[in-house]
Amino acid sequence: MTSYAGKILRVDLGSKTYRLEPLNLEWARDYYGGKGLGYRYLASLIDGDTDPLSPQCPLVLMTGVSAGTVVPCSGKLAVITKSPATGTVLDCSIGGSFGSILKYAGYDGVIFTGRAQKPVYVYINDGKVEFRDAEGLWGKGASDTEMAIREELGARPPVLAIGPAGENLVPMACITSEFYRQAGRGGVGAVMGSKNLKAVAVNGTGKVNVPGISAFMADLKRLVKEDVLTDSNLWAQTDGTPALVEATNSAGILPTRNFQEGTFEAFENLTSSTLKGHRVGKKACHSCPLACGNYVEVNQARVEGPEYETLALVGSNCGISDLEAVVAFNAACDDLGLDTISAGGAMAFAMELAERGVHDLGFRFGDTTKYLEAPGLIARGEGIGAELGKGVKHLAEKYGGAEYAMHVKGLEFPAYEPRGSWGMGLAYATSDRGACHMRAWPVGDEALGNVNPFTIEGKAQLVIDGQHKNSIKFSLVLCDFWGSSNFETMAAVASGCLGRAITAQEMEKAGERIWNLGRLLNVKAGFRREHDVLPARVHDDPMPSGSAQGQVIPRDEFERMLSEYYSLRGWDHQGVPTASKLEGLGIDKDVAK
Ligand code: SF4
Repeated sequence: MTSYAGKILRVDLGSKTYRLEPLNLEWARDYYGGKGLGYRYLASLIDGDTDPLSPQCPLVLMTGVSAGTVVPCSGKLAVITKSPATGTVLDCSIGGSFGSILKYAGYDGVIFTGRAQKPVYVYINDGKVEFRDAEGLWGKGASDTEMAIREELGARPPVLAIGPAGENLVPMACITSEFYRQAGRGGVGAVMGSKNLKAVAVNGTGKVNVPGISAFMADLKRLVKEDVLTDSNLWAQTDGTPALVEATNSAGILPTRNFQEGTFEAFENLTSSTLKGHRVGKKACHSCPLACGNYVEVNQARVEGPEYETLALVGSNCGISDLEAVVAFNAACDDLGLDTISAGGAMAFAMELAERGVHDLGFRFGDTTKYLEAPGLIARGEGIGAELGKGVKHLAEKYGGAEYAMHVKGLEFPAYEPRGSWGMGLAYATSDRGACHMRAWPVGDEALGNVNPFTIEGKAQLVIDGQHKNSIKFSLVLCDFWGSSNFETMAAVASGCLGRAITAQEMEKAGERIWNLGRLLNVKAGFRREHDVLPARVHDDPMPSGSAQGQVIPRDEFERMLSEYYSLRGWDHQGVPTASKLEGLGIDKDVAK
């Protein structure tokens, strides 16, 4: 007995048919679930040329071994596909309860392929799968869609839904669940839209079997007390991610006016203490004692958050100090189905283009008037919104300004300025889905910790360790905010759920295997060293003020750090995993060739 449901649901939207197949236990043994297992299924379904928006490109929903159990912070679901924004592999983690309920319905994962002729939503109701007409929902925001589905089904099943941005194939479109939770990055919402799939709802009444449940429960109680509800994690409960605004501003790495600066003169308008004055409720994902979700209401706009990334990218990075405007922008993005990080990045780049006289798209730093119109224009692909929605890389190719176009591989920078955290620069450059803060987070040790942020020494290993840890963490589908979890705690969780002794070393090796599989898929799509780069601003423009004043990451230092990273990984000079490395990790020969 294990906690796997033992079944994968395959749904072909083109023919409106579905079938069940047994979970591939060999793959599950090596990749566990979530991100890793999703990558393994993806590897069997795509090649380097697969168009992310084609019917052939799969959209994979994958649970983890702990989904549906009482393991803390296990209420996440992994969404895996190929990114329309970058052409890389793409996995996102979404909170709420969809993953747990999917497991109760009897599935470890769902794989959607094909394209429905007309808009549909899929209702997975235990063993039954229904294709329901969604023509009346097309054009609706994610929240109205979720409400309408709840009304139609007469229940409150968790729903994954897209807004108009996903329908219009905007490469920064996200998937929303339970009104305020997002699988945000890389255009997962556009992949769903390309399949004419407006939403997925799930109802599950079964249970998850956990072997040796009594011994496991005692272990979990200890873990919750000693490792989850501890000072190092409780910030998530009391403040949530907005706590980072003050910390990053003080470290000089709060993106400001398109990463021209690392401190924002009006940062106090965006801090956790300011937000607490507008807090109207709390929320937790399934089985989470941390409950980081904070509902905030400012005038008519209500959001969960705004999260740190949104406060920074949509706020300081656009020079916007008006909290009401930031919350309104955030609420519009949530409902329209837009990633706030990429939308904020594109807006800030457009603002700098205008202020430098390169091209005027009508936006200015600090000006909220046109700014508040932007989410609607982007999501509907109207006017200048059609250009903004294609992201910073596209804008730079069309209008100029590549040297300050803050993206990697076409994915906009998250909210940590790499000149004040050199390891973060390497983490962005080598991330499997483009610039991302959730693959490795060396900034926690650098600018916010005790490691010198302005050196390359030790950074390659720091980034590798983080990438392995998060790869297995997102494969067990545990929340990132259980920050103190490590290979030992993850081994304890996996052992308890699977009923066999799993060591911390096995967890670490699985993390490395998953990371290499992602790289391999990206190599097959043509990615090499020349793509593991940072924008010129990071190398050429010294930080003008703050704790990182005067800093750049010198090009030669960056190249040395990258070479060391490849070498420690056992990859060649181009960043291609060697055959012996792949063999040592046990990556199947048919994928490795
Ligand atoms: S910490 Fe927050 S995002 Fe993470 S599982 Fe708990 S409620 Fe969800």
